[in-house]
Amino acid sequence: MKFGGTSVGSAERMRVAAGLAAAERARRPVVVVVSAMSKITDLLLGTMRHAEAGDRAGMDANLAALRARHEEACRELLPEPRCSAVLERVHELIAEFERIVGGMAMLNERPPRSVDEAVAVGERLSALLLSEYLVSQGVPSAAINAWDVLVTDAVFGNASPLMEPTRTKARARVLPLIETGVVPVITGFNGATADGRPTTLGRGGSDFSASILAAALDASELWIWTDVDGIMSADPRLVPDAQVLDEVTYAEAAELAYHGAKVLHPKTLAPLVERKIPVWSKNSFAPEKPGTRIVPSVREAAGARAVASMANVALVSLDPASPELNGVLVMARALDALARADVEVLILSSSSYRQNFCFLVRQEELDLAVRAVESALALELAHGYVDPIRIDRNVGMLAAVGEGMQGKRGLAGRIFTAISRVQVNIIAIAQGSSELTIAVVVRREGLEKAVGAVHAECGMGSRPPAPVFPGGKAHATKREM
Ligand code: ADP
Ligand code: ASP
Ligand code: MG
Repeated sequence: MKFGGTSVGSAERMRVAAGLAAAERARRPVVVVVSAMSKITDLLLGTMRHAEAGDRAGMDANLAALRARHEEACRELLPEPRCSAVLERVHELIAEFERIVGGMAMLNERPPRSVDEAVAVGERLSALLLSEYLVSQGVPSAAINAWDVLVTDAVFGNASPLMEPTRTKARARVLPLIETGVVPVITGFNGATADGRPTTLGRGGSDFSASILAAALDASELWIWTDVDGIMSADPRLVPDAQVLDEVTYAEAAELAYHGAKVLHPKTLAPLVERKIPVWSKNSFAPEKPGTRIVPSVREAAGARAVASMANVALVSLDPASPELNGVLVMARALDALARADVEVLILSSSSYRQNFCFLVRQEELDLAVRAVESALALELAHGYVDPIRIDRNVGMLAAVGEGMQGKRGLAGRIFTAISRVQVNIIAIAQGSSELTIAVVVRREGLEKAVGAVHAECGMGSRPPAPVFPGGKAHATKREM
């Protein structure tokens, strides 16, 4: 069972989380993975930015908030004398964080390795509190720092698991505990290299931690507890009539996550594929609701089932100035540079006639991306063989996802028509070869409208869909496809 930030966001929420874990433990062994309390990771990262900038007042204010939040939860959860003993551990962990942040303030620098070590304190604090509360309720439990069980490569801030050593370490540490009825509460989000350097798995990475550990421990199921009823046909914050999907495939969930559905970390499903471990996405605020079951495959594939979107993206365009230049080679060199810089290309679209191409990246990776491409194509840019790189920040991306979309003729046409009907211009289109997803780049200000339009057009919501192809346009759109 993995509990997200809001599901352990207060003493009250931790009590509920502990109750859910304890109830299941009465039936079968349970391993718990926790996020930091909600907003704590942002607070920790913000503190480190203050430290780098030499802003002592900002640091102190954040540290006071960090202390207050965990002290309050601890006092509400635990009776004396246990509370004082645990508060001491809370203060030790916060002192560890303070020590690293102090170093950053001294150096005016935030080395990625130290960031990973420091930010894991959020999860270490929540694991400590939840585990201590379980013990106070008569459920034997032990808090575990994932440094001791989850082995990763050394890509700080965005590490990938090394499954074999993780399997060995996790089983050695965790199986003896569950065999004696102890509930391990493991920190999500973090891990360590084989030689013990702390790492993290990227923002929202606790889902990924849980799936890595589920695979390593040969779990029979993985339950991801969050603050919505499951995986929905759209982000309920954007589309009020979004509905919960009772079942989705690994591939659908992964595509939705990859295209911005925050409900799951994009890499969550990967470790589970081989062992076909089913996943439940469930609401810890309404545990009686069934939630969404994520399974390897479904018997009958429906069409477009859900729409995801991303707002903070930028489109980068490259145009070879001369037709003699081999555009594919320019593209290959640009992509090679992006891969080396570890920039994730979300969408790639090219025209073979003009040899130009554009790619979509997250805004936080934009500078890195542009610098990488500029240096890879420095000569071509300097001599004007390639036009100056164009950047468009005023864009957003949405993606319609569903197994069996390829079987639905005319669907892409309907999606594009629905978007233009709400007066939103389409800038670029990409359809992956899996044909599970159609992704569209639109003007930023039209993104929400476009998401709503696609959701309604495809009949994804709880309201009946608008009539399709009014005025007999069906054939025209079909032919376009
Ligand atoms: P947790 O802290 O439990 O990991 P997150 O905030 O990371 O929770 O993810 C849950 C949030 O994801 C929801 O509150 C919801 O607003 C958002 N979300 C975006 N797209 C979807 C979707 N398709 N289905 C469900 N939730 C979604
Ligand atoms: N606490 C981490 C974050 O906020 C990991 C997670 O919540 O999944 O990114
Ligand atoms: Mg999350």
